[in-house]
Amino acid sequence: MSKPKPDSPDTGNEPESQTTSNFIRSIIDQDVAVGKHGGRVHTRFPPEPNGYLHIGHAKSICLNFGLAADHGGLCNLRFDDTNPIKEEAEYVEAIKEDVRWLGFDWEDREYYASDYFGQLHEWAVELIRKGKAYVDDLTAEEIRQYRGTLTEAGKESPYRDRTVEENLALFESMRAGELADGSKVLRAKIDMAAGNLNMRDPVLYRILHASHHRTGDDWCIYPMYDFAHGQSDSIEKITHSLCTLEFEDHRPLYDWFIRELDIFPSRQIEFARLNLSQTVLSKRKLKQLVDEGLVSGWDDPRMPTISALRRRGYTPESIRDFADRIGVAKADSTVDVALLEHCLRVDLNKRAPRVMAVLEPLKVVIENYPEGESELLEAVNNPEDPEAGSRQIPFSRELWIEKNDFREEAPKKYFRLAPGREVRLRYGFFITCQEVVKDETTGEVVELRCTYDPETRGGYAPDGRKVRGTIHWVSAAEAVNAEVRLYDHLLKPADEVKADQAKDFKASLNPDSLKVLTGCKVEPSLEGAARESRFQFERQGYFCVDNRDSSPDHLVFNRTVTLRDTWAKIEKAQRQASA
Ligand code: ATP
Ligand code: MG
Repeated sequence: MSKPKPDSPDTGNEPESQTTSNFIRSIIDQDVAVGKHGGRVHTRFPPEPNGYLHIGHAKSICLNFGLAADHGGLCNLRFDDTNPIKEEAEYVEAIKEDVRWLGFDWEDREYYASDYFGQLHEWAVELIRKGKAYVDDLTAEEIRQYRGTLTEAGKESPYRDRTVEENLALFESMRAGELADGSKVLRAKIDMAAGNLNMRDPVLYRILHASHHRTGDDWCIYPMYDFAHGQSDSIEKITHSLCTLEFEDHRPLYDWFIRELDIFPSRQIEFARLNLSQTVLSKRKLKQLVDEGLVSGWDDPRMPTISALRRRGYTPESIRDFADRIGVAKADSTVDVALLEHCLRVDLNKRAPRVMAVLEPLKVVIENYPEGESELLEAVNNPEDPEAGSRQIPFSRELWIEKNDFREEAPKKYFRLAPGREVRLRYGFFITCQEVVKDETTGEVVELRCTYDPETRGGYAPDGRKVRGTIHWVSAAEAVNAEVRLYDHLLKPADEVKADQAKDFKASLNPDSLKVLTGCKVEPSLEGAARESRFQFERQGYFCVDNRDSSPDHLVFNRTVTLRDTWAKIEKAQRQASA
């Protein structure tokens, strides 16, 4: 990716390469330079445990942990678990696993907003004592009506002027469990005419007789997210609190709490959230897909969750590289999923061993090869990595080749196998198709009778004869059976979505996002391949052993990505468009 030219205006939206500068880094550098907080940099990643992490969260994780590490600082993992209704311990464990897998370490700094419920309650009482908070009897609906609109001031609640004593007593009975859910709330007393709606007496506490995954039934009042998030940062003395743009309008409220409570002044900085083409990045929508059985689970390899990307065959390195390249900006945009895939290909190209696998097998019998014999041929493990060495693959009279590497009626530009044509078997010999055997009833091609030229061992003819096509193959006797799952994007490309479908993301689901092939034949070196090991199947793409369903008796491979990199093309088009 190209960096912005020095003379072009910095929109803050240019993709960054490597760990180059960005506006957040500049702010932090300035704060460090003037010795703010003693030059300390302390960030946090604050997920709400109400779903699995997705690639958008990965952006935030890389940013928070990365900026802290680059400044010799620390990054906490904090679960923002203020909502007992949607949160579950299962999500907490999955989140920890994902952050660790991405390569980040929060050491012993694992915190929970729920650990601060006691402190937050004391602060609520403090605000009441200062006359800055009151108990309100309006219903949720009335509160909404009283709030006003962007163009119209709100109306004060008739309960707004309760005395401090009355508020303290009522808040205590809320807390003691004497009142029903929804009957009262605690609100900040700020300004019902404020231009910013978040400042119009926001709700701080609500009554909720619900068990919390950590605090059990200790509480029947719970702080609102806005009354917990900023203060949790203050409690942890977070210096730079990075969050997505939708919280920009909440910052004045967080700063109000900091002033009124005289607590540690964490500085909030907002950045644009990641949007990715051909997928959805919203826990709510992802949960819907899981709950409605439209995918097999949170880690279904079509999902954009970290656990699904892992299962699909993504590497943590490629995701971190992607996060570096997209950088951070102040305006929303959508990143093409081709860039994510490009980062993955760059990484896998360097380290995935090459193997041969036939996904839709067609039998080939080499008529002039002796029956019952076989020999070993040498195959290079990874031409991009000399250290990877080579391996021996068996060759014999019966082989499998790919069905679509043969055509009975071959067009002129078709260089693979056809009646009378000669091709090279990768790392093997030249073979010529002599005869086509068909199923008598269906007419389907079931076998090819071929001959091989023993002089072409290793793939070259001593007489200088050339062949145009090279195909992959597997020796039938030694082949290992496998199931291969071909994945494609969760959603159709935007330009294929009809206007009337655009509103409901489920109408854009790609009906061809999964194709399962059983009866695939892979080379014997893959026997017993470990879960999550990654390979390049020559000519076909990158594949990863499924970490859920694969076993030594039943190998299952997920296609990670095909070999065709569309990013280079997109990048070129973008360059031309901006030139
Ligand atoms: P979702 O919208 O998917 O439900 P969320 O923002 O509610 O996500 P949180 O668990 O609150 O999810 O997010 C934890 C952190 O990750 C927050 O700081 C949030 O700003 C950040 N984050 C969430 N989604 C994205 C995204 N798409 N791009 C960048 N950061 C994100
Ligand atoms: Mg959130």
